[in-house]
Amino acid sequence: MAMRCPRCRATAKTRTSVELSVLVRRSYHQCQNMLCGYCFTSMTEIDGALNQTQPVAGATLPQELLPPSHQGESAESNAA
Ligand SMILES: [Zn+2]
Repeated sequence: MAMRCPRCRATAKTRTSVELSVLVRRSYHQCQNMLCGYCFTSMTEIDGALNQTQPVAGATLPQELLPPSHQGESAESNAA
């Protein structure tokens, strides 16, 4: 996610981030304006659902063909 520096409004690059919980992530940013260089953190929170989805009954996927990051966990353990 692109952020702007709160001091000079230049583009700030996200250097890294850490997941604090299933709903909250902290990101670390650095201003790209070399005369500023301000470093700051931001928080991203999932605060609502826009829809409700359910797998189609009986549907299957070739999980071994999907990257691990796309396989997720069971819906019961991801209740948000
Ligand atoms: Zn700046």
